[in-house]
Amino acid sequence: MAQLDTRQKLAILADAAKYDASCASSGTSKRDSRGGKGIGSTEGMGICHAYAPDGRCISLLKILLTNSCIFDCHYCINRKSSNVRRARFTVEEVVHLTLAFYKRNYIEGLFLSSGIIRSSNYTMEQLVEVARQLREVHDFRGYIHLKTIPDADSELVRQAGLHADRVSINVELPTERGLTTLAPDKNGARIEGAMRDMKGAIEDGRDARQKYKSAPRFAPAGQSTQMIVGADAASDGDIVTRASQLYDRFGLRRVYYSAFSPIPSPSAVLPLKRPPLMREHRLYQSDWLMRFYGFKPKEVVSAAGEDGMLPLDIDPKLAWALKFRDAFPVDVNRAPREQLLRIPGLGTKAVKRILRSRRWRSLTLDDVARLTVSVSKVRPFIITADWRPTFLTDRSDLKALVAPKEQQLDLFAA
Ligand code: SF4
Repeated sequence: MAQLDTRQKLAILADAAKYDASCASSGTSKRDSRGGKGIGSTEGMGICHAYAPDGRCISLLKILLTNSCIFDCHYCINRKSSNVRRARFTVEEVVHLTLAFYKRNYIEGLFLSSGIIRSSNYTMEQLVEVARQLREVHDFRGYIHLKTIPDADSELVRQAGLHADRVSINVELPTERGLTTLAPDKNGARIEGAMRDMKGAIEDGRDARQKYKSAPRFAPAGQSTQMIVGADAASDGDIVTRASQLYDRFGLRRVYYSAFSPIPSPSAVLPLKRPPLMREHRLYQSDWLMRFYGFKPKEVVSAAGEDGMLPLDIDPKLAWALKFRDAFPVDVNRAPREQLLRIPGLGTKAVKRILRSRRWRSLTLDDVARLTVSVSKVRPFIITADWRPTFLTDRSDLKALVAPKEQQLDLFAA
C-alpha cells in the first residue's frame, strides 16, 4: 500500500463510511466537561450532523478504520475483490483526529466502523482500543458509536459497550437467503448471537447501575442495526417483519435502512439500478408507525400491496387508512388515544394537544385544522363537534382527494 498522509486517508475512509446509516445519536446519557475535567459532551439533543448531497444525515467524523477487507460481500465497495484505493488509519491517528476535530468544534462524536483485516478479533481489538484510548487516556466525554464485528469474541464486543455510547451489529440483509447469496462469508446465526450477547450485557449493565451508582455505564444509547434495502428480492413486508423481530428479540433502539447504492465494478448478482430513495423513507415511516403509533407489524404489512411493497406515492399510515376504511371516521372528541393516532395527518404531538384541549371543550374542525398541516387530509377520517363526513370514506376517489398533490420540482431550486 502506497504511503498516504492523514488527509488522503481521511478522504478515502470518510467516503467509504458514507454507506453506513447511523444518524440518530440522541438517547445516550448526558456527559459534559464542565469544571475543566475531560473533553467533550453529549449535552442537548445529541450530536451534530451533516447532510450528504443525497440527503443522508451523517455525523461529521464518520470514518472507517480501514476499507481493506478479507470478506467479499457483493454489495460492498470495500469487499476483497473490489478495485478501490485502500487506506488504513492507526489507532493513534483516529484518536488524534477525533480530538483535533472536537477541539475545533467540527464534531461532537465519533462513528467508527471498519473492514475486516487479519481476523474479526484483531479488527475488533483495534476498534475497542480507539474507544478505550479516547475514554481512558484522554477522558473524552463526547459521543462514540462503534460498529462491532459480529464474529469477534463476545468479550471484545462487551468491551466495546464499556466505552461506546452505542454499538451496532449489522444484519445487512432482511432474509437469510439474501445473506447467503450476497454476503457468503457472513453467518446470520452468528450475527444474531452477537446481538443477543449485547442485549444481555446491556441489561446486566442497567441492573448493575440500579444497584450501584458507581457501576460503569454500558452502551447507554443501546444497540442498533442496519439493513440494506433493494440489493436482494426482499419485499417491504419482509423487511418490516424482520425489523419488528429484531426490536422484540434484541431490544434494539433503532433499525436503520440503507437504500442499496450501485457501486463501481458491481458484482453480477446485484441489481443494476438503485431502489428509489423514497422506498427507504417509507420504511422509516413504517418503523415510526410501529414504535410511536401503536401499529402491529402485521398491520403495517397489510398496508402494502399484493407484491408486499408499500406504496411510494402515499405514506403507510394513509395507505392503511385507505385500505381499512371501516376504522373511520374517528370522533376526535371521544376516541381513545390509540384510535386518534390512526388518523392520517395527525402526529403524536397533535394527538396530545387534542386530548388536552378536549378536556375543556368540544373541538371543531377549525380547532383540528390548527393542529395539522393539511386539514383536507384529515377531514375525511374524523368527526368533530361541527363536522361529520358523509359517505366520504366510501368514495372510490378518496385517495385522489387526500394524497399529496404531485408537484413539478424547480430545476434551479437550491
Ligand atoms: S465485511 Fe463489511 S467491509 Fe467487509 S466486505 Fe462485508 S460489508 Fe464490506
